[in-house]
Amino acid sequence: MDKVKKVILLCHCVINEKSKVKKIEINPPGDIKEFISLLIDNEIGIIQLPCPELTCYGLKRWGHVKEQFDTPHYRKVCRELFQPYLEQIKEYLANEYEIIGLVGIEGSPTCGIYKTCSGKWGGQLGNNPYLEDTLSTIKLAEESGILIEEIKNILSENSISFPLIDFNKNDMAAFMEKAKPIIK
Ligand code: SF4
Repeated sequence: MDKVKKVILLCHCVINEKSKVKKIEINPPGDIKEFISLLIDNEIGIIQLPCPELTCYGLKRWGHVKEQFDTPHYRKVCRELFQPYLEQIKEYLANEYEIIGLVGIEGSPTCGIYKTCSGKWGGQLGNNPYLEDTLSTIKLAEESGILIEEIKNILSENSISFPLIDFNKNDMAAFMEKAKPIIK
């Protein structure tokens, strides 16, 4: 029998960076070993959520802003992808487990919890004289990404709540400050 009946939900790329949009790393990559070790040392069960962007757009996708993903179909896919995890969450809760939290991806148009990238993007890339203007509309909005908005709706519909925290690999110290209280 489990001594510790605690489980955490991680957005997919917290532990699988290979699913992310390919980009040129400007900051040195952070190290998530401390976080994962803390989960293992505290016997926290780890559930990795699916990656909607990889599922819908594959590994060769461009980076997007939230507005581009904000379609009825993408929201429907996010809800459908989360459905089996909702069933797992209900089963854990029915068996006296605690869901200690969900870790999202700061700034993601899909998995951001408190910040998401927003902008008036769209249209043709090649031969577009206004491309720079379009790209320059990007900003970090204090909103959730599409998957997280749908997860919040689903949790609310099912009267389930647990802490949500954003993961930022480039500021591991700040992330660990947020993560430690929910783990211990
Ligand atoms: S932030 Fe979400 S959608 Fe984007 S790569 Fe990570 S898991 Fe996939």
